[in-house]
Amino acid sequence: MLYDFHTHTFLSDGELLPMELIRRCVVKGYTVLGIADHISHSTVARVIEEVRRDAELGKKHWGIEVFVGAEITHVPANAIAEVAAHGLAVGADYIVCHGETVVEPVEPGTNKAAILSGNVDILAHPGLITADDAKLAAEHEVFLEISCRKGHSLANGRVVQLGREAGAKFLVNTDGHAPGDLLSEEFAVTVAHAAGLSDDEIKQTLYENPKILIERIERRRRERTR
Ligand SMILES: [Zn+2]
Ligand SMILES: [Zn+2]
Repeated sequence: MLYDFHTHTFLSDGELLPMELIRRCVVKGYTVLGIADHISHSTVARVIEEVRRDAELGKKHWGIEVFVGAEITHVPANAIAEVAAHGLAVGADYIVCHGETVVEPVEPGTNKAAILSGNVDILAHPGLITADDAKLAAEHEVFLEISCRKGHSLANGRVVQLGREAGAKFLVNTDGHAPGDLLSEEFAVTVAHAAGLSDDEIKQTLYENPKILIERIERRRRERTR
């Protein structure tokens, strides 16, 4: 089982068309692919609509489940809740927030605003996350990301340490922007180990936590079609 909820296409700064990304993930043996391109208030509706068309073709013709997410990126912290709600309103399956990675000037307070927004599912690469924010993430059931991406992954050990103490749940995501970034099960296990997760925690993170997120997404879809 191979899950990855954080990938990019050239609808933001990735290299591939959504359709080609989906094709390559089928060949890689992905169980579920989540596409979460960088968005802000300006682009969220268009990007979600465009990715959705290819996701539907991938499901129909290749049988792969593709969830359409959106990564709120460098949006003012005080506007994250509004953009997250807008993303869900225009059809996103789930919302990622581009957290306070140590390698970019993300506005301080972004991690907390994402966690408290009520509509962010995954806090990506949270960087120098605080113990308080890790506790809030656990309380609000926001997944903390363990990142495979260069730069962002520098803080994985801290995210695991504080997240574990707080009882937060983790996901391993590639944050893939190019074909060479895509996941194999072996690499997912290696990244999880390198971040400091135990064997039991790796099982929970790679195989159980994705199911919790998928249930949330499916509940959202059902509520929408009602
Ligand atoms: Zn990001
Ligand atoms: Zn990303």
